[in-house]
Amino acid sequence: MAAFVVGDRYLAWQSLGESDRRAAILADLANYFGHEALSPVSYDEIDWPSKPWTGGGYAAFMPPGVWTSYGEALVAPVGCIYWAGTEMAERWPDFFDGAVRTGEAAAAAIHALL
Ligand SMILES: Cc1cc2nc3c(=O)[nH]c(=O)nc-3n(C[C@H](O)[C@H](O)[C@H](O)COP(=O)(O)OP(=O)(O)OC[C@H]3O[C@@H](n4cnc5c(N)ncnc54)[C@H](O)[C@@H]3O)c2cc1C
Repeated sequence: MAAFVVGDRYLAWQSLGESDRRAAILADLANYFGHEALSPVSYDEIDWPSKPWTGGGYAAFMPPGVWTSYGEALVAPVGCIYWAGTEMAERWPDFFDGAVRTGEAAAAAIHALL
């Protein structure tokens, strides 16, 4: 089971000590899954924003209106340059699935030109 701490809640959570961070996560899970969630078999946490090669996580954030206003411009080829990347996926943006979908679509578009 994976849980994410994001936004303002992340800022508050990451300033806590190790045991308070763990307690906060487990208390949240207990809200959903009951008392048993307070005693997991194992518990691991990763603070992605503090990792130099990640610098944050999990995805790019587009405020409301960006995709619907500018989405077509994001995905349109420029000359012979075709774009692929999860941020431009219509389905599953920001996930591996979206990256694979746009990669396959770009490859198919280029293949059709050959
Ligand atoms: C911490 C973290 C955890 C995640 N966990 C999950 C998960 O559990 N499940 C899931 O589905 N998704 C997860 N994701 C999201 C997933 O990693 C991305 O959606 C996916 O990797 C995007 O693939 P991409 O090919 O679009 O971009 P990327 O994987 O970012 O690939 C872009 C590549 O381009 C290279 N590059 C950049 N600039 C240049 C340049 N100028 N010249 C040449 N190369 C360049 C980069 O080095 C990189 O290798 C996670 C993301 C993060 C950050």
